[in-house]
Amino acid sequence: MNKPVTAVSNLGAIDAAHHLHPFSDMKKLNASGTKIITRAEGVHIWDSTGKQYLDAFAGLWCVNVGYGRKSIADVVHAQMLELPYYNTFFGTTTPPTTLLAQKIAEKTGPKINRVFFSNSGSEASDTWFRMARVYWKALGHETKTQVIARKNAYHGSTVAGASLGGMKWMHEQGNLPIEGIHHINQPYWYAEGGDLTPEDFGLKVARELEEKIIELGEENVAAFVAEPIQGAGGVIVPPSTYWPEIKRICAKYQILLVADEVISGFGRLGSWFGHQHYDFEPDLAPIAKGLSSGYLPIGGVLVSDRVAEVMVNELGDFYHGYTYSGHPVAAAAALENIRIIEEEGLVERVRDDTGPYLAAALASLTDHELVGEAVSVGLMGAVQITADKATRRRFKKPDDTGTAVRNQCVNAGVVLRATGDRMLFSPPLIIERSQIDQAVDTLRNGLDWLK
Ligand code: PLP
Repeated sequence: MNKPVTAVSNLGAIDAAHHLHPFSDMKKLNASGTKIITRAEGVHIWDSTGKQYLDAFAGLWCVNVGYGRKSIADVVHAQMLELPYYNTFFGTTTPPTTLLAQKIAEKTGPKINRVFFSNSGSEASDTWFRMARVYWKALGHETKTQVIARKNAYHGSTVAGASLGGMKWMHEQGNLPIEGIHHINQPYWYAEGGDLTPEDFGLKVARELEEKIIELGEENVAAFVAEPIQGAGGVIVPPSTYWPEIKRICAKYQILLVADEVISGFGRLGSWFGHQHYDFEPDLAPIAKGLSSGYLPIGGVLVSDRVAEVMVNELGDFYHGYTYSGHPVAAAAALENIRIIEEEGLVERVRDDTGPYLAAALASLTDHELVGEAVSVGLMGAVQITADKATRRRFKKPDDTGTAVRNQCVNAGVVLRATGDRMLFSPPLIIERSQIDQAVDTLRNGLDWLK
């Protein structure tokens, strides 16, 4: 069998000459040199110099079952030989596509029974955005088109995805957001809560949704979207009062509640989906990442009966889809990935064992003079760096601070991510307690270095 390409001596130079990386300052990257990752196994990755790292970020929040799963490779190989591709547009489907939709529906609550497939989370954002507007139009509510999202959210890089996201620096590139999208504050108590208790702050920012609906006019609002826990924005865990209040407001005004489950789906929070952890049922929910643990690109939108019934019975054609919607090979990989999560009890393991263990390990860092807060749910966690605990003052250049600590950790063999001055954990769901200790100890050393 052919081997994967790894042994090309001047790959770095070739990369600098030909490859434009996403989310990268290419001039800086070409000066520092690209790190070439050549192989991976379990929770570890190796670079082209042979150096091993503990990947405490699961690639990009996605390799939930860990690397090197031969059974996924075997299923993919067999599916490629059996049927490498067929579309799902013109009255056709393929066995893995349909069985995957059924399997996903089994894991969601009783009111979610359908899935629309995409290839990524960004495409899933564009998909639900159109679906929400189409839903209201099909019901005769032509004016219900406005969507409320949150500042500092991340919903992808496509035009709708980046517009729904609340990252200003993304909006500045490409004249975003597009019309009809509004952003309210996020529940980031540590940085924005002032003198309020977390509970009062959670209520206050949730009620901004109600204020915005009233300002825009209930008859104009289609949906509200949020990540159960803001991910790329810095793992912003909402106060306990936040989601119940959001749920109440969406129900009161009958607007669609959209939970972006791209990170929080498939076990990360110790539940199959983040909305289950926070005890609500969304009307629509984009998924991706952990759906296939990143083995192949696949995403989708969970569609509740409320929306599906209108799409099926009222709409007629939905003029939307991707050549690779429900790709049979990606679907086969996702089915095997879910089978592994089930067979190995990974959701329960995160809920009952490694999740609480990570929470305790991160909490142990709060005695450090530079740690303002340490939060986590399941295996999604963050440590906030602060220059002064008492006043919650930040370092002058939060981005540089986080990047410097991250680089220290990577040099010491642990891959974490920094968002500004928050250090983020999102390891594969198979991580062992001793490996959590290694990651947290490495972060402590990184913080000591910063002192
Ligand atoms: N939504 C959330 C919450 C995400 O974290 C991401 C990616 O990180 C996306 C959407 C976009 O997904 P993709 O990168 O697969 O397009």
